Amino acid sequence: MNKRPLRIGLEPVSVIGAGLAGCEAAFQLAERGLAVRLYEMKPHKHQPAHKADTFAELVCSNSLRSDRLQNGAGLMKEEMRRLGSLILWAADQTRVPAGGALAVDREGFSRLVTERIEAHPNIEVVHEEVQSLPDGPAIVATGPLTDGPMLDAIQGLFGPGLHFYDAAAPVVTLESLNMEKAFRASRYARGSDYINCPMTREEYFAFVRELIAAETAPLHEFETPRVFEGCMPVEVMAGRGEMTLAFGPLKPVGLRDERTGSKPFAVVQLRQDDAAGTLYNLVGFQTNLKFGEQRRVFGMIPGLENAEFVRYGVMHRNTFLPSPGKLDWRYSVKERPGLYFAGQITGVEGYVESAGSGLLAGIGLARELAGKEPLDFTVQTALGAMAHYVAEYAGADFQPMNINFGIMADLPNAPRGKAERYTAIAERALAVIDGIIANKL
Ligand SMILES: Cc1cc2nc3c(=O)[nH]c(=O)nc-3n(C[C@H](O)[C@H](O)[C@H](O)COP(=O)(O)OP(=O)(O)OC[C@H]3O[C@@H](n4cnc5c(N)ncnc54)[C@H](O)[C@@H]3O)c2cc1C
Repeated sequence: MNKRPLRIGLEPVSVIGAGLAGCEAAFQLAERGLAVRLYEMKPHKHQPAHKADTFAELVCSNSLRSDRLQNGAGLMKEEMRRLGSLILWAADQTRVPAGGALAVDREGFSRLVTERIEAHPNIEVVHEEVQSLPDGPAIVATGPLTDGPMLDAIQGLFGPGLHFYDAAAPVVTLESLNMEKAFRASRYARGSDYINCPMTREEYFAFVRELIAAETAPLHEFETPRVFEGCMPVEVMAGRGEMTLAFGPLKPVGLRDERTGSKPFAVVQLRQDDAAGTLYNLVGFQTNLKFGEQRRVFGMIPGLENAEFVRYGVMHRNTFLPSPGKLDWRYSVKERPGLYFAGQITGVEGYVESAGSGLLAGIGLARELAGKEPLDFTVQTALGAMAHYVAEYAGADFQPMNINFGIMADLPNAPRGKAERYTAIAERALAVIDGIIANKL
C-alpha cells in the first residue's frame, strides 16, 4: 500500500472510535496523505461488550462470514481487499480454518490492526473519551453501544428518531419461498400485498411446541428486559399460551387460500421489505432465538422450508441513527459538510459492513477535503448498495441490515439459476470496483 508523507500544516482530521469502522476510516484517510487524529477511550473506559485494550475488537464471533463471491459478505470482502482495506489485510493475515468462511484469531487480528495504526506516520492516537462532536472534519465511529455525552451530542444533531434497540424480525428472499404452499393475499381480499404461509392445526401446534423449546441467545448484562418493552419476542408470546399466536400475529382472519377455498387454522404473513420486492420480513416475528434455531424452527412454517435468511431476527441493544434522508451514500451528514459517521451506528449490520462503511467514509471525506467530486460506488457494488440502503431506505421501519444481493441492482438478462445470477452480479461488481480504482481513486 502506498505511503504518502504527512500533509504538514493542515489541521488533523478527527476519527472517533478505534473499532472496525474507525480503524478502517483512519487508515484510508492516512493512506491518502491526510493527518489523522484517532481518538479511542480504551483503556481508560470500556463499553460493556469490550474486554480488550487493543483496537478493532471482535466483540462476539470470530467469523467475518462467508468468503464466497456468491454471498453478499464474501463479495463485500473482495471489494474491500481490492480497495486496500486494512481490516481485510489483517483478517487474511490471521485467518484460521473455517470452511468457506473467513474466521480469524481474534487477538492476533486486533493486535495486527493496532500495530499497523500505531505505526502509521500520518496517524496520531489519542486515548481519551470524546464528549462532543468536533467542529472540523471528522468521522464518528463510536459503535452500537455509544453512550454518555457523545450519545447526547449525536441526539442533539439528529433530534428524536435515534434508535436504541434493534428489535427486528427475520428477512428472507422471495426466490427462496415455496409458493406452491404460500399464497399472495391481503386480509379481506384487499389486494395481494402479503405472502401468506397457511398452517393446519397440526402444523401450528407442532410449530408452537418447537418455538417455546428453542434455544435463545443469551442476553448481556447491559441488555435488560427493557429491550422487550412494547415489542415482545415471538417465542415469549408463544409461551404465554398455546393459542396466543393464533389469536395474535398468526390470526387467519380475512384470509382464504383461493387455490383450495380453505380457511387456514393459522397464517404467518410476510411483508415486502425492499423497494425491488425481492425481500420479505416475517410479520410479528421479532425474536431472540439463536440464528441456527431460527433456521430450524421457522423452517417448519409451510413455504419457508428452504428460506434463505438475509437477516436473522434480533433483539439487542443497538444504538443507530435515523440515517435515511440524513446521511448520503458517502455516510456524510447532509446538513454538516465534513462530518461523517461510520460503522454499526449508521444502520449497517455486522463486522464486515461496519468496516466497509468506514472504508467508504474515509474515501469520501478524503475526496471532499481534496475538493474532488463525490464518488458513488452505486448499487452495483456491495459496498455501494449498503451505503445506498442506509441513505435511502424508504420504508416506515428502518432497521440495520447485512449486505445481501437483494439490496444490490439486479442484472438485466441475468442467468436463471441463483448461483449463476449471483456470480454474474459479483463479476459486475468487481468490474465496477476495478474501474473505480483505475479511473478515480
Ligand atoms: C454484543 C454485540 C455482539 C455482536 N456480535 C457480532 C458478531 O458476532 N458478528 C458481527 O458481524 N457483528 C456483531 N455485532 C455487530 C457489529 O458488527 C459490532 O458491534 C462491530 O464491532 C461494530 O463495529 P464499529 O466499528 O461500528 O463499533 P465498535 O467495534 O464497537 O467500535 C467503537 C469504538 O469506539 C470507542 N468509543 C466509543 N465511544 C467513544 C468516545 N466517546 N470517545 C472515544 N472512543 C469511543 C469504543 O471504545 C470502541 O473501541 C455485535 C454487536 C454487539 C453490540
